[in-house]
Amino acid sequence: MPASPAPSTRIDGIAARLAGIQGRIASACRAAGRDPGSVTLTAVSKTQPPGAIDAILAAGQRVFGENRVQEAQGRWQDRRADLPDLELRLIGPLQTNKAAEALALFDVIETLDREKLARALAAAAGASGKTPRVLVQVNTGAEPQKAGVAVAEVDALVARARALGLTVEGLMCIPPVEADPGPHFDLLADLAGRNGLVTLSMGMSSDFESAIARGATHVRVGSALFGERIVP
Ligand SMILES: *Cc1c(COP(=O)(O)O)cnc(C)c1O
Repeated sequence: MPASPAPSTRIDGIAARLAGIQGRIASACRAAGRDPGSVTLTAVSKTQPPGAIDAILAAGQRVFGENRVQEAQGRWQDRRADLPDLELRLIGPLQTNKAAEALALFDVIETLDREKLARALAAAAGASGKTPRVLVQVNTGAEPQKAGVAVAEVDALVARARALGLTVEGLMCIPPVEADPGPHFDLLADLAGRNGLVTLSMGMSSDFESAIARGATHVRVGSALFGERIVP
């Protein structure tokens, strides 16, 4: 078994890997006849040590995805003050009792998947004066263990969230691991179009180019940027 690279080596390579991913995003945009500026790279920083975060910030990255509220607070709360252009996006499941904390830290919550959570976010918004920007997460593969609203319930949840005063910007999905992601990305794009939504968060390290070809506006890339996660 090959030894994994020492942490310092992983960190030294981050700026080069970031440039490489940005280049692949630009190529995928050109191949699809899209403006490279129409796709945002969300760097998925969950589990990454401070040195890796320092390195990617130094290389200019400002949009980050995290999947746990508490872990993200530890990583970002103190850094925020010095980074006025930082954008934090929650990409993991959110419990209703953490809605206020999530709203306080994150600029965008990508994982709205039920009315109860929409109500909790609306209540937190009333208390804080901050209007939640959300994406609705769709369980495009109808996987029982996976978060996300069922495809048949997307339109109703989008309407309900809007009625509650949330700013619904788009949709997000995580296709089943073993499946061809293409049809899932196409489905998400169709659902967004019929709801008048422009933001599509889809595509990860292994499939972001396919997602860009199908209309992704935000790709969420972790391991291809930072190296394999040490802690799962
Ligand atoms: C961890 C994670 C990613 C990044 O996955 P990679 O395969 O490492 O790029 C993207 N989206 C979500 C929701 C994640 O939890």
